[in-house]
Amino acid sequence: MEKLSLRVFPDPVLREETKPVTRFDGSLKDLVAEMARLMNQHDGVGLAAPQAGVPLKLAIVFFGGVLYVLANPQLLSFEGEQEGEEGCLSFPGIFGNVRRPLKIRVRHQDISGGEHEIDAEGFLARAFLHEIDHLEGKLLIDHFSPMKRTMARKKLLRSGSAAVSEN
Ligand SMILES: [Zn+2]
Repeated sequence: MEKLSLRVFPDPVLREETKPVTRFDGSLKDLVAEMARLMNQHDGVGLAAPQAGVPLKLAIVFFGGVLYVLANPQLLSFEGEQEGEEGCLSFPGIFGNVRRPLKIRVRHQDISGGEHEIDAEGFLARAFLHEIDHLEGKLLIDHFSPMKRTMARKKLLRSGSAAVSEN
């Protein structure tokens, strides 16, 4: 498949409504491979399909030596609370504290269409929730206070949307 490029805020695809993954075929495997390439190239731990310009309910997270492929993920339950700094490949150089649930249960399909429920906590829960946000058009800066959001926007516009992220 053609090479995809990382989409950086304010690229409108980041806010586009995503469509469910319905075909678990070779083209999905190609897309996941291309997303993994982009994620590694930019030193990310996760990537949602809209960040590669594809408005599909699909995300990947690499954690603990495992590549999680989340097709059509759904948050089933959550509990507790954690606060920590988050960044996003689509917001180069922008970091901020985001409050998230501590433990979650997610239902999703894998790259072959098999259904799973996963329990995640701590960093992995945070990573899954960040990617699920992407599939709902919700972005890192939406978690910020209005003032911090304005500062982040200005910083990004100054650096230009073609900037490349290290994180
Ligand atoms: Zn992100």
